[in-house]
Amino acid sequence: MLNFGGLFTSKPVIFSLIFFGVAFLSLWIASVFWVYQDIFNRSKNVVLQILSIACVILFPLLGLIVYGFIRPGHTLDERRLLLLDEKIMRQEVGELLLCPSCRKGLETDYVYCPNCKTKVKETCAKCNKVIDKKFKICPFCGHSSHHEAVVKDV
Ligand SMILES: [Zn+2]
Ligand SMILES: [Zn+2]
Repeated sequence: MLNFGGLFTSKPVIFSLIFFGVAFLSLWIASVFWVYQDIFNRSKNVVLQILSIACVILFPLLGLIVYGFIRPGHTLDERRLLLLDEKIMRQEVGELLLCPSCRKGLETDYVYCPNCKTKVKETCAKCNKVIDKKFKICPFCGHSSHHEAVVKDV
């Protein structure tokens, strides 16, 4: 018969229990601190902050899995950068609209380049809206190619 009383008083068992206890405790505390920092970087929502921290305190380590689900995908800084990227991208798209002959920047709705008088856009023969020269069909009224229209109208 096993002597369980003796098992829990034997030195190696007590040492390993203390060891795992301390390891578990430090992991728990570390996870709470990590979540505490992480959630403040990712959200300004007080409810979410309290919920996340309470989760890892109440459910040691298991709470981390739950936190993984409710954790916002981007930090606040990352989100700021993403917005900035989007702005820069829009500017770049705007800058790409250059006159094909003199390379001057043009407004998106210009039909003629004010600098060299080159025609950069077409106007729809039917609805008169400014459309891209490459368009085969008017995106506003569905009228097919301006060139065709001229032929048809004659
Ligand atoms: Zn030009
Ligand atoms: Zn049209």
